[in-house]
Amino acid sequence: MRKKIIAGNWKMNKTLPEIKKFMEELIQNYPEKSQIEAIVCAPFVYLAELVKLAEGTPIKIAAQTMNDQNSGAFTGEVSPVMLNDIGVTHVVIGHSERREYYNETDETVNKKVQAAFTHNLTPIICVGESLEQREANETLTHIESQIKLGLAHLTDEQIKETIIAYEPIWAIGTGKTATHDQANEVCGHIRSVVGELTNDSIKELITIQYGGSVNPSNIVELLQTEHIDGALVGGASLEADSFNQLIKAGVQL
Ligand code: PGA
Repeated sequence: MRKKIIAGNWKMNKTLPEIKKFMEELIQNYPEKSQIEAIVCAPFVYLAELVKLAEGTPIKIAAQTMNDQNSGAFTGEVSPVMLNDIGVTHVVIGHSERREYYNETDETVNKKVQAAFTHNLTPIICVGESLEQREANETLTHIESQIKLGLAHLTDEQIKETIIAYEPIWAIGTGKTATHDQANEVCGHIRSVVGELTNDSIKELITIQYGGSVNPSNIVELLQTEHIDGALVGGASLEADSFNQLIKAGVQL
């Protein structure tokens, strides 16, 4: 069975009292029987505190990006060594907002993914097409190229551990979710590209999330979709109650 993972991406939101309240509520109401693994992706400054707050619970803590170097003269940056040092287990790499506002490319994504594995961090690699690319029928070729470049130089074992998040850019924060057919087609394509790069058993095992306006009312159907193994969630992960409802959806599977 494939691992199903829901990751809440807080982006640049929340204050210290808010994260404490969130974790208290999340842990209090956490569904024991959910088959979903939950990850909270938070701003750097809260990661150490979140790791402490999540201790003894199944909740994992992720960074939203990182540098690919271990240390050095990179003012303002955070390295994989530092994330590993404080107990962070996952890192989001190549979110479309990073690609758009901070010039991240498939090449920089690949360097960061390799650095993540070197330091025992599991990467969540984001891929997705723009509306223009979808309308020009370029979705599958674009995604295929992002996957091949993003996973370059990795071993089969590393690819098996990688989490891939398919996030159509036009669906992020817009309230427009891709239809199940659209999301399933792309996630299925990602799975076959992974199969080409590795083998059939890894292709079946890799976790592929969907992201883009996921909320408690569409999560169950998404999770029941053949090639979708979880979600990367922005807006609906900001409140503990709604994030918990997403995780509870796993109980019904
Ligand atoms: P959204 O964001 O759920 O608010 O659409 C998703 C994301 O950016 O990962």
